[in-house]
Amino acid sequence: MELTLWTYEGPPHVGAMRIATSMEGLHYVLHAPQGDTYADLLFTMIERRDRRPPVTYTTFQARDLGGDTAELVKRSVQAAVDRFQPEALLVGESCTAELIQDQPGSLANTMDLGGIPVVNLELPAYSKKENWGAAETFYQLVRTLLKNDMPEPGAPKPSPSRWREQGRRPRVNLLGPSLLGFRCRDDVLEVTRLLAEQGVDVAVVAPLGARPADLIRLPQADANVCLYPEVAGSVCSWLERQFGMPTIRTVPIGIGATLDFLLELGRVLDLDPELSERAAQQAEQRSRLPWYSRSIDSTYLTGKRVFIFGDATHAIAAARIASQELGFKVVGLGSYSREQAREVRAAAKDLGLEALISDDYLAVEKAMAAAAPELVLGTQMERHSAKRLGLPCAVISSPLHVQDVPARFSPQMGWEGANVMFDTWVHPLMMGLEEHLIGMFRHDFEFVEGHRSHLGEAPKPLATNSATVGSSAAATALLEAPTAPATSDISIGDSSIGDISIGDMGLADSAMAAVLSWTADGEAGLARIPFFVRGKVRRNTETYAKDQGITAITEEVLYDAKAHFSR
Ligand code: SF4
Repeated sequence: MELTLWTYEGPPHVGAMRIATSMEGLHYVLHAPQGDTYADLLFTMIERRDRRPPVTYTTFQARDLGGDTAELVKRSVQAAVDRFQPEALLVGESCTAELIQDQPGSLANTMDLGGIPVVNLELPAYSKKENWGAAETFYQLVRTLLKNDMPEPGAPKPSPSRWREQGRRPRVNLLGPSLLGFRCRDDVLEVTRLLAEQGVDVAVVAPLGARPADLIRLPQADANVCLYPEVAGSVCSWLERQFGMPTIRTVPIGIGATLDFLLELGRVLDLDPELSERAAQQAEQRSRLPWYSRSIDSTYLTGKRVFIFGDATHAIAAARIASQELGFKVVGLGSYSREQAREVRAAAKDLGLEALISDDYLAVEKAMAAAAPELVLGTQMERHSAKRLGLPCAVISSPLHVQDVPARFSPQMGWEGANVMFDTWVHPLMMGLEEHLIGMFRHDFEFVEGHRSHLGEAPKPLATNSATVGSSAAATALLEAPTAPATSDISIGDSSIGDISIGDMGLADSAMAAVLSWTADGEAGLARIPFFVRGKVRRNTETYAKDQGITAITEEVLYDAKAHFSR
């Protein structure tokens, strides 16, 4: 058992639903208890789809358990085929149905369904999750549909440059985009545009918008582009092994990654080297991100501390953009994608960090607080955690909420994706002039510390102790945190609480906090540090004091610590 309040991913059958609903002409019979139809809302409300997902639930109830639930499965399969007449059928079970072991997929395979391909989904709901379920469903579907077209063992691999011999343009499949993926709809448009500029056509986009008949055409392309490894990684590897199709694995999120993607595309498809050279020369001009981040107005972004968490693909991409293209300092990197943990660990290691691989949002929140970032890039879970800690945040990955399925064009990939990300990430930060003025004039009644007027925030009430201004959200969270130390009295707003770590949830080495206290002049000195780095300074000072065996932190200790860490 694991006590769970929020979960980053749904059960694996929701992944299977994502594949079925992303496609056309495919139907999914799901053996599930009454109530599991809640998952429809993910598609009709978050994705704002105008029709119900192509899912027939068996919707068994308690009274059915005394009867023949296997018969219920068969009736549901027959009714779904008669009514929807799909080109292919997925049959699987949800978590509860897994326990009663009716084997719905095997049952469907024994029925006469007019010869439509039936995919028996075996998704272990108690050990795997949504993305794995999506990847497995996509893989099993492609395998089933292509089983009659497999090349003979030992047959020669097709040449990726056969397009030249055949006198046509090269073509690739775009694999992985799906509903409930992050900005997949617009990424497909942006990548299609990128490819067209290189003279490359798109053969099949799947699963998003594809029919089963399209999947049968997959091997006709010269290569596969694995846009979302979480969903398409296993299919791409299988097509590579069975059909000799090469995979382009660089995910084009960010300027550097988009350029690497184009170079890999050129290499794999044996394109004209001049095209790749031109792409390399033009990379800096194709998006506005490089110039915007170089322009003087972005100077204040340099070294901003950023904490990144999401699915592996978006977290790794964000870390590269943050560190190499925006000049941020990545102070935390992690993912809930256990299947891609190795890649995340490698990316973190390159940044001198240890990756956080976890699906426990409280562990993520704790790491976020400990890293004392100035910006959080995460999922909608991190948006909540960042709000509790009073930190600016932008969403970069699923799980998402309805506002992350916007009406406007909002890709993450390609040149335009980089523009979108520049705006999105910088937007929650306080703007440079305001940051400077608040640092200089600390006693304004309206523009108090932490106030971001460009977001239309209401002015925060002036706190009675300047050390705490702008930190009330963090302080509230701290009060709720079980490890909150209580060693000195500093007032926050009107409430007097014990605080040694307000504004910095992360210090939280409670043993250390229990023996340390801040003197009044120490707190006053700390209050003069700009609020967005104050948490970090507080933590460093406490670490320094602990190392030196100091228990009372005065202003002098504060500046000694500063000198110590800037050596
Ligand atoms: S079967 Fe699974 S998804 Fe459905 S209600 Fe039970 S736990 Fe939730």
